[in-house]
Amino acid sequence: MRGKRTHKTRSLSFAFVLIMLVALISGCSVLRELSSSGLSGSGIPGAAAAVVSESPTETAAPEEAVLVAADRTETATPSEVTPYQEDPTPSPVIPDKDKFKDKKLVALTFDDGPDNKYTTQILDLLKEYDVKATFFMVGLQVEKYPDTAKRIAEEGHSIGNHSWSHADLSKLSSKARDEELDRAQQAIIEATGMTPHLMRAPYGAISDSVLQSIHDENMKHVFWTVDTRDWAGSSVTKMHENVLDNTHKGGIILMHSFGGRKHAIERTVKLLPSIIKDLREMGYEFATVDELIESGQAHSSVIK
Ligand SMILES: [Zn+2]
Repeated sequence: MRGKRTHKTRSLSFAFVLIMLVALISGCSVLRELSSSGLSGSGIPGAAAAVVSESPTETAAPEEAVLVAADRTETATPSEVTPYQEDPTPSPVIPDKDKFKDKKLVALTFDDGPDNKYTTQILDLLKEYDVKATFFMVGLQVEKYPDTAKRIAEEGHSIGNHSWSHADLSKLSSKARDEELDRAQQAIIEATGMTPHLMRAPYGAISDSVLQSIHDENMKHVFWTVDTRDWAGSSVTKMHENVLDNTHKGGIILMHSFGGRKHAIERTVKLLPSIIKDLREMGYEFATVDELIESGQAHSSVIK
């Protein structure tokens, strides 16, 4: 009787051990499946991993898996989400708009530089009079005078692309046009560390396709409202009169910091202090083209 019972107990024990072994092996294969799906090491909660491994036919891309995990983490830990929502990054547009409220803005722009003669004199004057301006730079000049380009950026002026070689972009093939924009952009980035988002086509020569190329490079095209014609060698008196007569709120004044006829830019340098002083007397404040756009004062016909 006793021997029989012992035999029965042994059989039951053996069956129990067998069941446990089967359970253990199947448990291991589930683990293997999880680790082979590439998720076990990514710190994804077990629940998220299970969702992915439940449908073996679906080859879950890692990005999708991360997305699932990110969603889960956000909903699972509201304490991490709440401070982010309460403290959003402040938009720079709001304070700038306040900054320019009730102000009569005008932007000075200088094309075709930089160089190490006139551009530097213009920079000295802008510093002396505490004026920020915008320089539309030619790539070739930037390559020749990277230090001046860098100084322009460091002194807080805005920087724009003015093509690589001052070519008429409207007369070029789309490939050549894109190269003009790209090469200038790269030269400016290399010299200043800044990526221009403003562009002025040489001669203001744009077409729909030129404009498209500019927009494809994430830039806006900037015309002007007052042309000093400094490049043509206009007299200081004539330029001064032209600027004072034709400047309006939100105006953009076109000048040059390099090139033009002989001694032309010497007159630009002479003109600069007088227009700064007189426009200030007329109630104008100087802004970069970026600031003009931010303020909402730039004319829509001028910024494309
Ligand atoms: Zn030009």
